[in-house]
Amino acid sequence: HLDRINQVDSAVHAFLHIDTEGALGAARAVDDGIASGQPPASPLAGVPLALKDVLTTKGVPTTCGSKMLEGWVPPYDATVTARLRAAGVVILGKTNMDEFAMGSSTENSAYGPSRNPWDTDRIPGGSGGGSSTALAAFEAPLAIGTDTGGSIRQPGAVTGTVGVKPTYGGVSRYGLVAFSSSLDQAGPCARTVLDAALLHEVIGGHDPLDSTSIDAPVPPVVAAAREGASGDLTGVKIGVVTEFSGDGYQPGVLRSFEAAVETLRGMGAAIVEVSCPNFTYALPAYYLINPSECSSNLARFDAMRYGLRVDDDGTRSAEEVMAATREAGFGAEVKRRIMLGTYALSAGYYDAFYGQAQKVRTLITRDFDAAFGKVDVLVSPTTPTTAFKIGERVDDPMAMYLADLCTIPANLSGTPALSVPSGLSDEDGLPVGLQVMAPALQDQRMYRVAAAFE
Ligand code: GLN
Repeated sequence: HLDRINQVDSAVHAFLHIDTEGALGAARAVDDGIASGQPPASPLAGVPLALKDVLTTKGVPTTCGSKMLEGWVPPYDATVTARLRAAGVVILGKTNMDEFAMGSSTENSAYGPSRNPWDTDRIPGGSGGGSSTALAAFEAPLAIGTDTGGSIRQPGAVTGTVGVKPTYGGVSRYGLVAFSSSLDQAGPCARTVLDAALLHEVIGGHDPLDSTSIDAPVPPVVAAAREGASGDLTGVKIGVVTEFSGDGYQPGVLRSFEAAVETLRGMGAAIVEVSCPNFTYALPAYYLINPSECSSNLARFDAMRYGLRVDDDGTRSAEEVMAATREAGFGAEVKRRIMLGTYALSAGYYDAFYGQAQKVRTLITRDFDAAFGKVDVLVSPTTPTTAFKIGERVDDPMAMYLADLCTIPANLSGTPALSVPSGLSDEDGLPVGLQVMAPALQDQRMYRVAAAFE
């Protein structure tokens, strides 16, 4: 895999940092263990993985795709990183991403975009486009992403790979550089559903270092993926979300989705249409809640504690140093969200914007609750369109935000959702994703359906 990275990464730019020595050392340790007769630490011992650069890695740079953290070497491992290492997983390096995970294309990375291996003039999704690119370009068989509004699932959909956002609290956020804390969730990315399930069981489970971590066993996702592989969905009730179609959806994506629903029906599943009327308001609610939390979380980048510090001659006041550093260190999208969030949280506007968005969030959760009273899982297209061209949406934040139209409800409610490849669009020949959503802590349901479908 290191050879493959050397061959192709200059063309696709999946990685921000390649840790050749660390990877070879970890691989040798697994070999040595086997040679001395020890059982492997996990089913994934020795398997290489690409890690999104938003998770801290002790002794290995972590930039979050930002100039603000250029050159920063964390003194500690994220829990996800530590669990990967303990399982014998070989971390190849850190993958490219939109700055602080804000975006849907990796074009907001301060280090240049990643390119979709299916067509290098197109985006590989975002914010975790480096991880999806690494999988689709066969630079790594496994990757880790984080999903605040779709950043695991949307890159999976547009690169023909599998991406899973587990139940919120199912995977520790300790060492995941915070963007929007009530939405952020790390999860597995892979080329098959079973690979994603094996990785899910390595990284998931309770962590006392994260106060929002759920103290419950990891859902039995590997068993579910194996069960689903039989292709029999008799007795499974699948709801088709009626709100996710119409204007803004490419006909090729909708046709692929209709074909996917027919495939699921053919496997014995009962298909019903389910209306979730408040999902229509998910995007506007998200773009108030997310910037609000972002404006608070990113206050830590103050030039005093770590990362960039712009202080030319040492005579400026602390406030001037902070302002100069934030001006130079943050890109346009990060500044836009900090301003939006600060405004939405300010006295006099709080109830009208942030408070209102939180109410919508509750209504969306109630829509999910009502739907899961009738069906086992919900399905929809993962994204309204296939991969768009690099540059096409950079000057139009609203168009960029629409990429996450279908993925955001699951973040707002904390419920799990995944994207599994649904073939190629008959319109442009590019990959399409099928989204499967399940109730909280029932992640295994979506693995079963996705494994049957794949
Ligand atoms: N594209 C969405 C955003 O920009 C999702 C980001 C994410 O999931 N990290 O906020």
